[in-house]
Amino acid sequence: MSVISCSSFMETDPWGVADQPRFINAVTEVQTSLSPRPLLDELKRAELELGRQRRSRWGPREIDLDILLYNQTIIDTPELTIPHGQLTNRRFVLVQLVELDDRLIDPRCGKSLCRILRELDRT
Ligand code: ADP
Ligand code: MG
Repeated sequence: MSVISCSSFMETDPWGVADQPRFINAVTEVQTSLSPRPLLDELKRAELELGRQRRSRWGPREIDLDILLYNQTIIDTPELTIPHGQLTNRRFVLVQLVELDDRLIDPRCGKSLCRILRELDRT
């Protein structure tokens, strides 16, 4: 797996559970020969290697590696949802994805992420 590009880092307020430190978020584009499911396993392995401890969901975490998009693939299984389930309602994720590539399309609705971001900012 090789990293093609990386967005800037953005600090965001915690989500769900408010009484915890802020998060630092970034998006990277990677090139990989792994298909989505093996890629998820690899990311979970990397999270453990980077020191992620088992804690409650939404709580503080050392690292969280999620798959946001995988080309134009759509997956809906209990263990893997692609595009990521929170892709279109978390502003910072859209901002960082657009920073990497402003031509990205959400395969579920066919809209550009730029347009989804503009619509989100209007509401
Ligand atoms: P968070 O939802 O905050 O990222 P976790 O990192 O603990 O929480 O992930 C919980 C589960 O979400 C993972 O075990 C994984 O099976 C599942 N999951 C579903 N879709 C994705 C995705 N696109 N990227 C990463 N994990 C995903
Ligand atoms: Mg995760």
